[in-house]
Amino acid sequence: MSEVFTGVFTQQEPLPEAAISAAVAVMKSGRLHRYNTVADQQSETDLLEVEFARSVDAKYCLSVASGGYALSCALRAIGVGNGDLVLTNAFTLAPVPGSIAAVGAVPVFVETTEDLVIDLDDLRLKAEQTGSKVLMLSHMRGHIVDMDAIQVLCCDLGITMIEDCAHTMGASWKGKPSGRFGLIGCYSTQTYKHINSGEGGFLVTDKAEVMARAVMLSGSYMFYGKHSAGPEPELYKDISLDTPNNSGRMDNLRAAILRPQLANLRAQAEAWNARYRILEGALRDVDGVHLPYRPQAEGYVASSFQFRLPDWSDTSILDFMDRCLKRGVELKWFGRDEPVGYTSRHDSWRYLERQQMPQTDAVLSTLLDMRIPLTFSLEDCELIGRILKEEVAAG
Ligand SMILES: *Cc1c(COP(=O)(O)O)cnc(C)c1O
Repeated sequence: MSEVFTGVFTQQEPLPEAAISAAVAVMKSGRLHRYNTVADQQSETDLLEVEFARSVDAKYCLSVASGGYALSCALRAIGVGNGDLVLTNAFTLAPVPGSIAAVGAVPVFVETTEDLVIDLDDLRLKAEQTGSKVLMLSHMRGHIVDMDAIQVLCCDLGITMIEDCAHTMGASWKGKPSGRFGLIGCYSTQTYKHINSGEGGFLVTDKAEVMARAVMLSGSYMFYGKHSAGPEPELYKDISLDTPNNSGRMDNLRAAILRPQLANLRAQAEAWNARYRILEGALRDVDGVHLPYRPQAEGYVASSFQFRLPDWSDTSILDFMDRCLKRGVELKWFGRDEPVGYTSRHDSWRYLERQQMPQTDAVLSTLLDMRIPLTFSLEDCELIGRILKEEVAAG
């Protein structure tokens, strides 16, 4: 009798009690809007921004309505607009090209390596071919490219980098927090990311003017002085009148439930990584399996697990997924012609002119992906590892 896993891949942990009581307190106060404070009271949202800025060692932080909002707000805050070309990963999630399109700009896709990071040779090539001066670097599925090399490259070519850290909140490169290598770092607090408020996001930077524009864009009205993690009010003199309001604020309810989770992020990261290492260990040295290389410098937070079956055909991968699913292990495949769930691909974004990405297509056609919810125990992960290993061997 073969073993079957019965856990649910979409089941998150409940929110911590501290988050629930903080949320109740906000609801009892009725003051859900971030600027609805009494006298010198600091709102939950304001406190969260101060704490998040501190956690990544950033001068300024703004919390917003979603990760995707943070990305488009970042682009607008540095003046990217109509017709501008923005370099970005061909392998990423839909909100990334979507945020570029939202400001009227056009994504220029860059190829993906076998280790699931942006291809630096292709980045240089595309930058030189198109003359684009902006890179939205997506740390897709938490895999971090050589940040030293990409910074040198950007500096060389005069490229401004925005980091999409939806999957790297809490992660680092040589000890420096992810999101602190580019001019702006963007994060998501959507349910499947590292802290959970249903929807939400952050934008961090050390550049005062950029943050002032982002604050105005997010819909601060003339309350920009109520941002403890924002620049000096004097800086807003012109910016407050020259910048459109495109409301995308965070509210106190979400901020209240995020603060205790942020305080616990390090422990959560360790819990994810312990689970990841079990899965990685199960498939390491298994014939036909390629595991993405994880450099020593990468301080990852592995909230998901990826592996490739480079020599397998589409039909054998579909058959493998089917066998895994019968044993309770739900895998996502990026090779499917039609997008399912979250797995859309550069060629599914039909609002863009089609770009040829042969290397990315080859990588994605053999890439399998699995979420690691923290409701799974270490034993659960051992069981999943055994199932995957057996079904690879059976293929
Ligand atoms: C989730 C995600 C985002 C932002 O998503 P929101 O749902 O808007 O918070 C951005 N990039 C990637 C790679 C993501 O997975």
